[in-house]
Amino acid sequence: MTRINGFLGRRNFLRFAGTGSLAIAATAIGGSLADSIQADVNPANPNPVNPTQALKLLLDGNQRFIQYKRQYPHQSLARLQLVAKAQYPFAAILGCADSRVPAEIIFDQGLGDLFVVRVAGNVASDIVIGSLEYTTAVLGTQLIVVLGHTKCGAVAAAIKNEPMPGMIGHVAESIKPALTNLNSTDAVIANVQYQAKKLQQHSKMLSQMLQAGKIKIIGACYDIDTGKINLIP
Ligand SMILES: [Zn+2]
Repeated sequence: MTRINGFLGRRNFLRFAGTGSLAIAATAIGGSLADSIQADVNPANPNPVNPTQALKLLLDGNQRFIQYKRQYPHQSLARLQLVAKAQYPFAAILGCADSRVPAEIIFDQGLGDLFVVRVAGNVASDIVIGSLEYTTAVLGTQLIVVLGHTKCGAVAAAIKNEPMPGMIGHVAESIKPALTNLNSTDAVIANVQYQAKKLQQHSKMLSQMLQAGKIKIIGACYDIDTGKINLIP
């Protein structure tokens, strides 16, 4: 039995997925279940990247971005063909859906590098948590970055605390518990810390992997004006 980050390996995940919700997704895109799932399920990463190495790769990429020295790595046809066989993203990013915070650009990364989950206010919903469980437990990613950003509209809406149309209010409601008498910058940081904590509190898998030292979860804030990533202690 293959075990990745201490959890079910790819072979077992295939079995699990055959009766689970992923079967629906696989059917929906037209291929057979096995073909669809196997699109990214392969033997364990031959070159695993630990959390320290992963963070360095991200911060080095962000330095290139803010210094206008981007290298646009891993964006060739050869890379596309390579990652078509298997994906081993070295970091997972839980970021905001804000159009100004695209992970691959601000970290100067390419195809197959990052497992990115973006949702307004970088809110850790059940679906988000499931996605992060997948990349850590199945794909072998060892670093999760919860990435907030300055001038976040979702956080601002939560601070304003006014009625909003449609389901927009759900986003604000998911952020409000993090906020108590904070200004907007502090609120962004508080929200990152709150959502990062929620990942552990709502996911037995993630908290177990954390405690076993298999993964790391860190918080960071992207500065919309400068492009710089600042780590949150
Ligand atoms: Zn935002």
